[in-house]
Amino acid sequence: MTRNGNNLNCADFQARLPELIASGEDVSSHPHLQTCELCRALLADLETIAEAARQLFPSVEPPDEVWEHIESAIKKEKK
Ligand SMILES: [Zn+2]
Repeated sequence: MTRNGNNLNCADFQARLPELIASGEDVSSHPHLQTCELCRALLADLETIAEAARQLFPSVEPPDEVWEHIESAIKKEKK
């Protein structure tokens, strides 16, 4: 089954998935996921992988001093 009630099929949804995630949208509330168990499972897998990656490569997180720079830059901006 590749079609659901919406006009978006699984291939279309999955093609747009990286874009949706990158845009910071709440992908889990996407209408396609309300009707498609397959893509819900896929998204759950992706989230598991992303979570595992964060634990395996914590060094990709910016160090604290980077955040301090950002914070002070924002504070200056607001004056
Ligand atoms: Zn689907």
